[in-house]
Amino acid sequence: MAAAAALVHHGIPIRLLESRPRLGGRASSFRDQTTGESIDNCQHVAMGCCTNFFRFCEMVGIRDQFVPAEVLHFFGPEGRMDRFAAGPLPAPLHLAGAFWGLRYLNLAEKLAIARALSKLATTTQRGITFAQWLAEQRQPQRVVDRFWNVVLVSALSESLDRIDLQQARKVFVDGFLRNRQGWVVEIPQQPLDDLWAGPVRRMLEGGNALVEVGQGVARVELNQVELNHVEPNRVEPSRAVPSGGRVTGLTLRDARMIPTGEVILALPWHRLGEIFPPGSALQPVIDQASKLEAAPISSVHLWYDRPITPLPHATFVSGLCQWLFQKPVEREHAASTDKASPGRYGYQVVISASRVLAGQSQAETIAQVEEELKVYFPPLREATRLHARVVTEHKAVFSPLVGSEALRPRQQSPIANLQLAGDWTETGWPATMEGAVRSGFLAAENVLERLEQPTRVLVDDLPTSNLARLLWGRLG
Ligand SMILES: Cc1cc2nc3c(=O)[nH]c(=O)nc-3n(C[C@H](O)[C@H](O)[C@H](O)COP(=O)(O)OP(=O)(O)OC[C@H]3O[C@@H](n4cnc5c(N)ncnc54)[C@H](O)[C@@H]3O)c2cc1C
Repeated sequence: MAAAAALVHHGIPIRLLESRPRLGGRASSFRDQTTGESIDNCQHVAMGCCTNFFRFCEMVGIRDQFVPAEVLHFFGPEGRMDRFAAGPLPAPLHLAGAFWGLRYLNLAEKLAIARALSKLATTTQRGITFAQWLAEQRQPQRVVDRFWNVVLVSALSESLDRIDLQQARKVFVDGFLRNRQGWVVEIPQQPLDDLWAGPVRRMLEGGNALVEVGQGVARVELNQVELNHVEPNRVEPSRAVPSGGRVTGLTLRDARMIPTGEVILALPWHRLGEIFPPGSALQPVIDQASKLEAAPISSVHLWYDRPITPLPHATFVSGLCQWLFQKPVEREHAASTDKASPGRYGYQVVISASRVLAGQSQAETIAQVEEELKVYFPPLREATRLHARVVTEHKAVFSPLVGSEALRPRQQSPIANLQLAGDWTETGWPATMEGAVRSGFLAAENVLERLEQPTRVLVDDLPTSNLARLLWGRLG
């Protein structure tokens, strides 16, 4: 969608083919049969540092649909809530007051975190996991559990013993150290489907795009030069020189063949091999990317006969539950009534890196989640559950393992008129909507250049504050 929006924005006619009946891919919604509500496959949030994602939102007219959460609510293991909001100081001190106020960390633990954060800002060490680095920094286990784990498992959907040090550093630098805006969590005010199917589709179609959903690509057609390509490309795949071959068309699942000019394939990495003839110049890229590992994310959707909390969202420092969000319909309802009236009140609990749920029934997961929530939200003890369901995306994101960066290809593929896009391509970002948009913008830039209309589509990161620069330099 980002590549399409960028090209349409620059006056290029395009055709967007999506195999599912709806736009949005992993960031989409589905209709829950019991409640009739459109619910997101999982709550998606963006952060202030997602500059390209917000540029995409501006382009397609949905920027106002993402609203910043000025305050976060952290529940410590003892069940007490701490408010977390920025103060007036420049980054990296904007969150210092909120951080000192967290009651589930003691003074020695806070000093240990501050020391490690400062070191993390400038470390160039590579090839180790974040857990190894934390051990080198002698971070106490309680600090690992109550701070580092809380931030990183949500941000990267992986356990600390599997996260690459530099990937972890990026989260803290972009999110917390560089700029006051970086950490701000922005929450969509509507189910994602309503955004994509409404304003986004209208923007694309109003700008000379043909949008076809439920229209899968069965096979990529290549010209003879490409089909004769037998030598596996031994150089680093993403840097391979164009092979001289071309994509000549796409055969759709309904057997129609459509001729193509420039092509952007924005499939997940594990689906590319299904539609590409084996042995092409893209084969080494497909082989490399297939080594990327995936991590699961689960969401537990719960509906009760009464509100369990007035908070729009909450973060939990220990246990199975990581985040809780009120569903948008209920947020509106809560805002429009003084007193909670009987009805249906929906919540979503997010569990990233949810491997622990494998082999557990939905009923067991729901019971475990409810037991935890009862500690934080006593009204739940009196509430009647109306409906519940667990949704797990098994290949939610690629895992930011040590060495995973080298497996991600550039958008310009070895086949000249073929660009790759998707959160898994080389963007420098983890698997996020920001990463996906960046890949789409980069692919669009390449297409514009090939059409002899070179244009910069990508927008800059948030600037590094003067204070952060003084402390740590440019924070590249
Ligand atoms: C549960 C969950 C929670 C997440 N939470 C967040 C979050 O809070 N914040 C955040 O920034 N990111 C989050 N993410 C990550 C984010 O959703 C992804 O990084 C992003 O959506 C990836 O977009 P993409 O375009 O690269 O790939 P996808 O969204 O996977 O899109 C690929 C598309 O290609 C289509 N397709 C596949 N094969 C074909 C074919 N043969 N022909 C035509 N079309 C085809 C698919 O149907 C799909 O629509 C989350 C992801 C999940 C799963």
